[in-house]
Amino acid sequence: MNVYDSARMADVLAPLGYAPTDTPADADMVILNTCHIREKATEKVFSELGRLRAVKAERHAAGHGTILAVAGCVAQAEGAEIVARAPYVDIVLGPQIYHRLPEMVAQASRAAGAVIDTDFPPEQKFDFLPELAAPQSPGGITAFLSIQEGCDKFCSFCVVPYTRGAEASRPAARVIAEARRMVAAGAREITLLGQNVNAYHGEAPNGGTWGLGRLLHALAELPDLQRLRYTTSHPRDMTDDLIAAHGNIPALMPFLHLPVQSGSDRMLAAMNRRHTVADYLRIVDRLRAARPDIALSSDFIVGHPGETEADHAATLSLVQAAAFAQAYSFKYSPRPGTPAAGAPLQVAEAEKDRRLQALQAQLRTYTEKFNAGCVGLTVPVLITGPGRHPGQIAGRSPWLQPVHLSGPMSLAGQVVPVRIKAAHTNSLSGEFLQERATA
Ligand code: SAM
Ligand code: SF4
Repeated sequence: MNVYDSARMADVLAPLGYAPTDTPADADMVILNTCHIREKATEKVFSELGRLRAVKAERHAAGHGTILAVAGCVAQAEGAEIVARAPYVDIVLGPQIYHRLPEMVAQASRAAGAVIDTDFPPEQKFDFLPELAAPQSPGGITAFLSIQEGCDKFCSFCVVPYTRGAEASRPAARVIAEARRMVAAGAREITLLGQNVNAYHGEAPNGGTWGLGRLLHALAELPDLQRLRYTTSHPRDMTDDLIAAHGNIPALMPFLHLPVQSGSDRMLAAMNRRHTVADYLRIVDRLRAARPDIALSSDFIVGHPGETEADHAATLSLVQAAAFAQAYSFKYSPRPGTPAAGAPLQVAEAEKDRRLQALQAQLRTYTEKFNAGCVGLTVPVLITGPGRHPGQIAGRSPWLQPVHLSGPMSLAGQVVPVRIKAAHTNSLSGEFLQERATA
């Protein structure tokens, strides 16, 4: 979502004459778009600010001004601390107000101190953003599109409801129009984004509301849009309609990131997840019934307050039962203001490390098994750009694995058949089957 948001900030600044650069030393303005989800991400902001302070000083010595801005969820949660610890920061803006960035830039050039705005404004920023001219991802073949933001679930460990605010969905017609522009600019795969994307309930084009299943059906009708994905989902919001969409929409890729967090019902209750392990496995079964080739990915937290060895063992059992093709796993990180941060029975750091290693070792075996199972198959690969070596191109399998192969760059944007020859830890390599290529 921060990738999408960063591109939108570039859009609102373009009329002021700003264009993106990869080199901070060349930049008249640097925006750090930040993440507050775990402490490590937050600490990175302060170390990065230290580096940028030196860049700003060097540019100043050479007679150039630099506006330094901190955006995103760290700005939202720790705006005052940022200004106190890094007084050379000029702008602090929360994730819901970046449509106001041009005004803030104008104020910053007049103000003596930092300009801070971390409001949750009554207006929706999406209504004030300029229409997208081009998709944001490299090569533009795969694009992200935010359709929903915020969260009302209040899991015990999570800052999102506090930093991104209440759940809000964009009207379906606007989503479709933005998707159409992305496709016109070359996007062939769109990933719909939301902190809780399957809670989507946007205003329908002709009144009423649409859920995510209905929206996916409408987007699948866009000519030239070959692939659709969505992330991140909550198990509670996997409606019948959405599960059915996996069986009915060929463009909806057979890969779903569905975070479970723990395999222990006791922990799921403590986390306020509002689903049990059995609920989760039932959803997995129904998804596999609707779309037999679907592969699942998940998120896990180890060492949430109160987690015992038995709870941890239950998580390892769930990994076995669900056979995830991919997963992210994290040590519980206490976040200020969340209920779990002040809970008793915090788990020792060394114990969290041990549990994380055990979980990751087990998850890795399933990822390797899944990747190895692709060897020998011919899979449709969306070519997204050049590969690592000359003459190589790269793309994505339906299950989001990076695929490397030899072939011409003229295939970029096409879905081509590729025979998978080898599986690596995080990618596949294969051979383009020219004679069966489809446009
Ligand atoms: N909305 C999604 C859901 O309900 O599962 C998750 C979104 S959250 C931005 C991404 C992931 O970060 C979570 O699934 C969780 O595993 C992890 N996470 C969130 N808060 C965390 C914390 N305090 N410590 C460690 N990991 C955390
Ligand atoms: Fe955070 Fe996801 Fe829970 Fe919302 S549903 S509070 S975003 S983990």
